[in-house]
Amino acid sequence: MSLLDARRWHGRIFTGSWQVSAGGDAAVVEPATGTELGRIGMAGAEDVTASVAQAATAQREWAATPFPVRAAVLRRAADAVQRHTDELRDWIVRETGGIPGKAYFELDHAAQNCYEAATLPSRPLGELLPSAAPRWSMVRRVPAGVVGVITPFNGPLALAMRSVAPALALGNTVVLKPDPRSAVSGGVALAALFAEAGLPPGVLHVLPGGADIGAAVVTDPHVRVISFTGSTAAGRAVAGLAGRHLKRAHLELGGNSALIVLDDADLDQAISAAAFGSFFYQGQICMTTGRHLVHQAVYPEYVARLAAKADRLPVGNPATEQVALGPLIDAGQRDRVHQLVTSSVAAGARLVTGGTYRDLFYRPTVLADAGPSIPAYEQEVFGPVAVVTPFATVDDAVKLASDSEYGLVLGILTADVARGLALAERIPTGIAHINDQTVNDEAHAPFGGVSASGTGSRFGGVAANIEAFTETRWITARGDIAPYPF
Ligand code: NAD
Repeated sequence: MSLLDARRWHGRIFTGSWQVSAGGDAAVVEPATGTELGRIGMAGAEDVTASVAQAATAQREWAATPFPVRAAVLRRAADAVQRHTDELRDWIVRETGGIPGKAYFELDHAAQNCYEAATLPSRPLGELLPSAAPRWSMVRRVPAGVVGVITPFNGPLALAMRSVAPALALGNTVVLKPDPRSAVSGGVALAALFAEAGLPPGVLHVLPGGADIGAAVVTDPHVRVISFTGSTAAGRAVAGLAGRHLKRAHLELGGNSALIVLDDADLDQAISAAAFGSFFYQGQICMTTGRHLVHQAVYPEYVARLAAKADRLPVGNPATEQVALGPLIDAGQRDRVHQLVTSSVAAGARLVTGGTYRDLFYRPTVLADAGPSIPAYEQEVFGPVAVVTPFATVDDAVKLASDSEYGLVLGILTADVARGLALAERIPTGIAHINDQTVNDEAHAPFGGVSASGTGSRFGGVAANIEAFTETRWITARGDIAPYPF
């Protein structure tokens, strides 16, 4: 049986083995064709309770497992990602509608996250403090316990792995709730990869389900930390619940990232980067270039060339054709994108190209002359729509770029790197790239946004992962019992 053979998971959830679920099942649909690829088990509330209880018990033994053994599981999981690349790629392409390049991006990211996580178990556990009393005074990092991971449809394997791998490596057990729209690539795959890597049963649970199941994971008393990736609206709901239940919640949310194009930028290269930033995976990436802020001296040419590039990009079924863009994930997402485009035109934006669709295939779209009152400028579109706005001075660019509720990624294109770095200093953002578009992610680099984009860098890098998935304990020890006056 292959890694993702449907006979394993048809109508089932993963609790250490594949079990029939309490919440029925749901179709796994290929957005490009509407074909049903299988039926995934949907968790019920009682499945959450049972899994979390089991995970809480398993956590003590997993945390006590010698650190080289935990590290080896993570390395073998990375090896398994690489060994099963072809099968995983095909599932990601068909289930998410991304081109093979998007699948390879995810696969590489997932494998690198496991390799990075494999270094965590052997890191120092804390530090030794001076003490005014005659005693040892130590700070020790201990596993948080059971970690709840809630993930979106768009980068299912990579986004689940970037939470699950470090959480496991640091001695936690994990209950993963993937989005049902991509629960094979973002759920079944992790269960199967870690089982193959020798992770003991009960340490990882995979419970596909909707918002109600996500909420059940957040509120279960045994879950100590939530690692949530998704929209800002859902993040706010999760944060509210987590607050009431006194849980730590790490939130990676939406974006509306700006790409600033200065007047000295090389336009040939700028257009290529800009088109990738807006149209890669149909714009369904948190880091997608939402707003192109372009110096007025190059603005007309930029708009014309970006539109010409968009016109040349082939759109179709990424599993059967060589295309640049595949379908949007579902009709709801397509209708939302189209509504934002049409309402933006009604509000005064200029539709330069695109704005049309067939089934779930949305043409890459360029909306020019868009400003702060235009819906597609103000909101995260999550579709293949490049919104272009002119600016006159660098101060104007700073104002436009900063005037957003989001703060995930900033890109700046310029011939003068120092000018770019100085400009980036003036704009609130979690991530900034000089001379690159906004879609960039490396497993060892801190990743996260500010403001409505989330609670900051809790992914990538040793410090971020240790901060996210452990608690700090202060421990003192002395040779004799401390004397007291009464
Ligand atoms: P979504 O918020 O609708 O769903 C994300 C996950 O949260 C799903 O598993 C969903 O079932 C669950 N969920 C929804 N409401 C919930 C609730 N009230 N309680 C608990 N769980 C709940 O997002 P989506 O449409 O799948 O993904 C797109 C969004 O995700 C975009 O806004 C995008 O920017 C964002 N995103 C952010 C990052 C990042 O790293 N910052 C990465 C990828 C996607």
